[in-house]
Amino acid sequence: MARVEVVQGDITREDVDAIVNAANSSLRGGGGVDGAIHRAAGPRLKEAGAALAPCPPGEAVATPAFDLDPPVRHVIHTVGPVWKGGTRDEASLLASCYRRSVEVADSLGARSVAFPAISTGIYGYPPDQAARIAVDTVRSVPTRVELIRLVAFDRVTYDLLTAALD
Ligand code: ADP
Repeated sequence: MARVEVVQGDITREDVDAIVNAANSSLRGGGGVDGAIHRAAGPRLKEAGAALAPCPPGEAVATPAFDLDPPVRHVIHTVGPVWKGGTRDEASLLASCYRRSVEVADSLGARSVAFPAISTGIYGYPPDQAARIAVDTVRSVPTRVELIRLVAFDRVTYDLLTAALD
């Protein structure tokens, strides 16, 4: 099992082997963290993503990191569930995003992986519930990945993730 830590910051600046993108099924880029990652990785990311699309909710696929700064070598694109009140399997789909992303990272030989708070922006997942799922899932998935860093963009998410970790 990996060591899990929580930080506040911009995921495109994290010094890890792989960063996870909260993508949409088209894998062609979008708003929020997806837009930030595409800007930092450059136009080849869109091409590489499009070739692997569509990606269903709960799944994860990897592309190179292109123009992102070393040591980042991989972008793992996962598609979170859109929150529809909690009755559409959102919790298990969100857990699957974290689990599948760690599995993909493991298969790439990544030692360290950073995650954004998947689905808690445009997709509307309640941030407190999402924080608990993020921490519980990454803490329990068997993996050779050594470090999993949960990256909060804002203070509220940082506090929720820290609370979930305790
Ligand atoms: P989703 O569509 O999965 O909800 P969003 O990108 O809208 O994805 O939001 C997911 C989370 O990513 C939100 O908590 C948002 O504040 C955060 N976020 C946005 N930009 C960045 C960034 N550069 N680094 C880390 N997290 C970010």
